[in-house]
Amino acid sequence: MVASPKALLDELKRLFGPRVLLARPEKAVYRYDAILVGEEPLAVVLPETREEVQALVRLSRNFGVPLVPRGAGSGLSGGSVPLEEAIAVAFTRMTRLEVDPRTQTAWAEPGVTTARISEAARPFGLFYPPDPASYRTSTLGGNLGENAGGPLCFKYGVTGDYLLELEWVDAFGEVHRLDRKAYDLPGLLVGSEGTLGLITGARVRLLPFPKHRATLMALFPQVEALAEAVSRAIALGAVPARLEFLDASCVDAVEDYLHMGLPRGHALLLAETDGDDPELVQEELALLEETALALGGKVRRARDEGEAEALWRARRAVSPALGRIRPKRVNEDIAVPRSALPQVVREIEALGKAFGLVVVQFGHIGDGNLHPNILFDPRRESEEKVWELAHEIVRVALRHGGVLSGEHGIGFMKRKFMGEAVDPETLGALEAVKEALDPWGLLNPGKVLP
Ligand SMILES: Cc1cc2nc3c(=O)[nH]c(=O)nc-3n(C[C@H](O)[C@H](O)[C@H](O)COP(=O)(O)OP(=O)(O)OC[C@H]3O[C@@H](n4cnc5c(N)ncnc54)[C@H](O)[C@@H]3O)c2cc1C
Repeated sequence: MVASPKALLDELKRLFGPRVLLARPEKAVYRYDAILVGEEPLAVVLPETREEVQALVRLSRNFGVPLVPRGAGSGLSGGSVPLEEAIAVAFTRMTRLEVDPRTQTAWAEPGVTTARISEAARPFGLFYPPDPASYRTSTLGGNLGENAGGPLCFKYGVTGDYLLELEWVDAFGEVHRLDRKAYDLPGLLVGSEGTLGLITGARVRLLPFPKHRATLMALFPQVEALAEAVSRAIALGAVPARLEFLDASCVDAVEDYLHMGLPRGHALLLAETDGDDPELVQEELALLEETALALGGKVRRARDEGEAEALWRARRAVSPALGRIRPKRVNEDIAVPRSALPQVVREIEALGKAFGLVVVQFGHIGDGNLHPNILFDPRRESEEKVWELAHEIVRVALRHGGVLSGEHGIGFMKRKFMGEAVDPETLGALEAVKEALDPWGLLNPGKVLP
């Protein structure tokens, strides 16, 4: 319990005026991320400057009240969800953004949405590669907090790979603005889910737009053949920009929704190659085409951008297509060695049947990142059973040498698995870092560490 809540709220009102939300309906929204729900915060604060963030940290210490940083709340592991009496710090008003075409970088505050960075870079022939599917709503602060990836990450890497310089406020209220050239302290904050500091700005690297792209879709009667085709093409030297996989249940759902003539009961691969040399781009795609055909795949190759867009519609339609099957879903996120993927997909399918729940699977197959989705109707199906199944899915990944999370983070959803997934020595080191950087345990408590 916070010692003197009234004094705390008075102080918040004095410091932030209308930018502190105290009314029930407004605050209630901040209990949620995209799938999880926690406690209603004591207050929600919308800071606009790093000095205001510093003031919040001091106040948090004086009153012993935790801070829960939050971007767009599109997270899928409960990172931005308060678990006890806390102040939610919503960074959505810190949205300054400057592109520097000379250095091919951008300086952005944490509330800038992912998509806006690329939009601002486009007039200079540049783009920002990390592309979580939530890129229109998710923020840079949240992307750094989770080290978000996306379809382009097989070739281009994840959010942390584009971070050059980071500004943050630590638990002592000090501001740091550091690059990564000596001790990589910014790297420590990447993926720390708001538990080590509050990010107030970042310089990110931009890349020139590739001049050419080529796309194909391949359909396989068996997941094994699809995974093998991908592995062979990569071994032969193909580095596709995007490699997306949909299992047969997912393909059926998309076909029911779009009626684009996809054969039922087939697993689907979408691949895109890109680069500045048009011949190389086509050659790389040809490697994928040849291996797919050799393994019994049916291949559709896009002849132009319009056809490519039409093929990618299948991937973009996944969310609405699944929404027609059941109103709710838990979007799991595991990563396994690519060679284990067929077996993992089969085991998860079998688990879904054993639990009597609908499970569909898709993901970024290049890096073995799989998103088994459990679809359910809370009026007819037990949510407890859904979470039990989600936990079994994590165990399948761990049994096959995989990891707890490919890109969505640990949050509070998976923290209890940290003991199973991480060796005691590493866990001890993580705890020591947390203790050193947040000795009062006021930064996003209850997340990541078991
Ligand atoms: C439809 C959909 C598709 C998605 N697709 C992908 C995908 O392809 N790839 C992927 O990686 N994720 C994906 N996600 C998950 C989610 O969008 C990402 O994790 C994203 O990075 C979260 O950004 P956010 O701004 O919503 O952050 P939030 O959910 O608000 O917060 C995420 C974490 O970051 C911390 N945080 C936020 N701001 C700060 C800050 N300024 N300082 C310190 N910590 C902070 C929070 O405390 C929390 O722990 C998807 C989600 C949805 C709903």
